[in-house]
Formats: sequence, C-alpha cells, structure tokens
Amino acid sequence: MRHQLACLLFTLPLLAAAQAPAPQAPSVAPPTQAARPATAVTKVAGTDNVYIFRNVNHQSMFVVTPAGVIATDPIAYGRPNGGQQYVDAIRSVTSQPIRYLVYSHHHFDHVAGGKAFKDAGATIVAHRRVRERLLPINDPHTPLPDEVFGDEGRTLSLGGTTLELKYLGASHSDTNVVMFLPREKLVFVVDTIPVGQVPGRGMIDFYPDQAEDFIRKVMALDWDRLIPGHPGVNDRLGTKKDAADQLELLQKASAEMKQLAQDGKCWDSAEKEFKLSGYENWPGYKDNLQFIARRYCGYWGRGT
Ligand SMILES: [Zn+2]
Repeated sequence: MRHQLACLLFTLPLLAAAQAPAPQAPSVAPPTQAARPATAVTKVAGTDNVYIFRNVNHQSMFVVTPAGVIATDPIAYGRPNGGQQYVDAIRSVTSQPIRYLVYSHHHFDHVAGGKAFKDAGATIVAHRRVRERLLPINDPHTPLPDEVFGDEGRTLSLGGTTLELKYLGASHSDTNVVMFLPREKLVFVVDTIPVGQVPGRGMIDFYPDQAEDFIRKVMALDWDRLIPGHPGVNDRLGTKKDAADQLELLQKASAEMKQLAQDGKCWDSAEKEFKLSGYENWPGYKDNLQFIARRYCGYWGRGT
C-alpha cells in the first residue's frame, strides 16, 4: 500500500504535466516589482500641499507653501544623483524656492545627498546631535546641518504651514525627530515605526529602554496618518493602530529576549532560539529577526 501510494504521488505530477496545455510566451510581460519606477512623487491624498518623494525603498515628505518648500531627508545614500533627482521632483510640482531641508536623524541612508539642496539655497535643519554624530565622520556626501536645535524641538512656519520638529526621546537612534503637521494631522516618522513591517538592520543603534515611550508619545499627538521613511506594503500610510502594533511587537521581542538573556543564553543560543512568534507573516520577519534578537540580546544580556 505504501509502495502504491508512493508511486501514485510520483506519477500524478507527471500526468498533470502531460495534460496541461503547452505554455505560450506571454505577449505582454506581467507587472513585476522591477517594473516599478525607481523614483516617484505622490501628493498625499486629502492635502493640497504635502507630497512624498520615493527613491527605491526610501521615502521622504516635502511640503509646498506659497513662501517656499520645506523638504526632508535627501535619501540618496549610494545614489549619486539621488539628491538632484529629489530636487528635480520638487521642481516638477512647484517653482517655489526650497527654503529648508530637515534631517529626520543622522543615518546616511536617509540624509546623504544634501548637496543639491544646498546648491538650491536650502538651509539644513536637524537635532544638534545629528551634527555631533556627522562631524567626526565627515562623509563627503552628507553636508552638516546649518541650524540645529535641542531636545526642546523647533517649529518651522512658512507660507501658512506649520511643521513641528519634535524630539520625543531616543528611539531608533538618539537623533530622531518626529515631523508633525498639526493642520494636516500628519506625522513623518522615520524608522522607529515601520508600517506593518518587522524592523531590521536599523536596530543596530536602537534604544530599547526609550523606544516604547517614544512610540507612546507619538501616539499621543493629534494625527490621523503616518508617513513612514520606507514605503509600507502597497505604499499605504500608517495609522495609530500601526503604531500600537509596532509597540506591541517591540514589547514582545523585549520580553522574549529578556527571558533568554536571564537564562544565560546571549549571544549565540539566544539568537537561535528567539522566535517572535505571531509575526511570521509580517514582511521582513525572516530576514530581520536576527537584528532584533541581537539588539535586545545586547540590552538584556549585556546591559547596554
Ligand atoms: Zn535610520
């Protein structure tokens, strides 16, 4: 019986193949991820002044006002023309001068490429620790901020638009600021609150002891939609539910690794045993688990 079953299982696919019609070359190539243009400009629905510029898998927000443009993150790391592409993208929707370029935090994948903005006359604004961190590294592709502010934050008012730059504690780094548009009820939050995705490599200098409180403070602001620094699935914007979900993910990751660490299993055993169960179907789960495990292992198993 077992032998017959094995034979049946073996022959069925052959039969199916034999009966299937001969494959034909499609006349039109099916749409694929590769067919998506590398860059795109999208106006945020329901607004007349807020846009998203996307370059491959990074994105940033810019705001157009009658007195000029406030741009954010050049997102041009490893993309020599990325800064100019972004400036050109802004030019495609307005001839207003670019007044400001705001850095969300100090990581190069978001802030490299500012020269095109400097050349266009923009003033670069960031948290003061962005300058402190960029200064010794002296990256040729990343101009230093022209103006910095401290933990008290700063409000940019231009042409009737108010953009609040809020420092809500350390999170994904110790330089991340939340960019809040109170009238539009929008926030631009880079890297700390991925929309429906498992966080990854950016965990390397993440602050487990402060990030949960950061997310609670973001949720307490009066906004409806969150623009993430990397496109969400189907480019969707985030909601407060997404922020709550990310907080829960971090809490579960932290609790699981705390136990493994206190059982004396950091690093190697803990990284192998860490599962973050329940998130298996989230984008990034398989590739990113190791980065979450390592960061929390460092925290609970090493004290840093
Ligand atoms: Zn980052």
